[in-house]
Amino acid sequence: MNSRRDFLQKITAAAIAFHLPSYGSASVGEFYKTSYDGPVLRVAIMGLGSYGTRVAEAMQACKMAKLTGVISGTPSKIKDWQSKYNIPDANCYDYTNFDKIKDNPDIDAVYVITPNALHHDQVIRVAKAGKHVICEKPMAINAREGQEMIDACNKAKVKLLVGYRMHFEPKTLEIIRMRKEGEMGKVLFFQGLCGFRIGDPTQWRLNKQLAGGGSMMDIGIYAINGSRYMVGEEPIWVTAQETKTNPEKFKEGVDETIQFQFGFPGGAVASCLSTYNMSNLDRFFLDAEKGFAELLPSTGYGPIRGKTHKGELTQPHITHQTVQMEEMSGIILGGKQPIVPVDGEEALKDLKIIDAIYLAVKTGKKVDLKL
Ligand code: NDP
Repeated sequence: MNSRRDFLQKITAAAIAFHLPSYGSASVGEFYKTSYDGPVLRVAIMGLGSYGTRVAEAMQACKMAKLTGVISGTPSKIKDWQSKYNIPDANCYDYTNFDKIKDNPDIDAVYVITPNALHHDQVIRVAKAGKHVICEKPMAINAREGQEMIDACNKAKVKLLVGYRMHFEPKTLEIIRMRKEGEMGKVLFFQGLCGFRIGDPTQWRLNKQLAGGGSMMDIGIYAINGSRYMVGEEPIWVTAQETKTNPEKFKEGVDETIQFQFGFPGGAVASCLSTYNMSNLDRFFLDAEKGFAELLPSTGYGPIRGKTHKGELTQPHITHQTVQMEEMSGIILGGKQPIVPVDGEEALKDLKIIDAIYLAVKTGKKVDLKL
């Protein structure tokens, strides 16, 4: 066992919490101006595509997380990333040999940023190699797969986190704070509208084998997850209806547009829309007895904009992926507790809801949920 790794894993939560400000607070911008000499999470990114590139660039501003390795099926990308990020040959892998990462003392965690349907097997292999896992959303393409991933990480005693970057976004966290502290009163209604017009019909997002579904897997999951953290409860039933205007582009099993509704134990209801066929759809609205909150845009890369019955939200914008990686370093190395969970169990709830939404579409019936 590597002694540096042992050392890092023994760091207490308090040691790291000391360095990290609350991302709901105005002091967060100050954090990046101060020096830091504590432990650093060394991360390999798997899948050097569009989002992997964004994460790598954002990580350059991190103090507590550092890109030290890559896993890719494209040798030319590996070469480019090696020169851009100073990554040695010993930390470069492809999809056939990355199990050897087990023996690499320079990598603490692997961030899986590949097409959705590949996450399950890749995460399980990373866990078996004894490394912590960060996995992009959706964690898997159904709840059964998600549970298997959680079990594999538990068995290997590694952490499994999912790339829910909005869970660290300051304006989002301010609304959650207001709701928790009773400033809004009883929550009555949530609306989540999430979608965009998808282009190239040949991309993996429109291939069920790789995407596991359609817009719901990719963008609708923000409305599902958002309804849970905005309302602050788990839904107990779901109804859903699908509209498909272009069956040529959106083939069997690839949803184009789905409207869905949730009921919550406290009596609140939610009405949401997930689509690959409408532009500029990125809005959350929360209505409560004593006030309201709106985020518009609500889940894009930001800046997020928002207001409540008390006025405009003014919390600072910081690159989402930078904050996420700093916080995840604190969670993995220091046992820090995020305000909204980002672990496998949290992601599994979204997958159970996605399974229920697809079932409700298929049967036309209300589906009960037990999360
Ligand atoms: P891209 O298509 O841009 O990149 C995916 C990468 O995965 C490819 O470039 C490739 O990298 C690798 N890959 C491995 N096997 C395959 C395969 N069979 N087909 C295609 N690519 C393959 O996708 P994104 O980066 O946009 O999305 C990746 C994941 O990130 C998805 O799960 C998505 O939901 C998530 N995502 C999350 C976002 C967020 O805000 N949290 C935003 C965007 C995406 P290589 O050549 O290196 O092997």
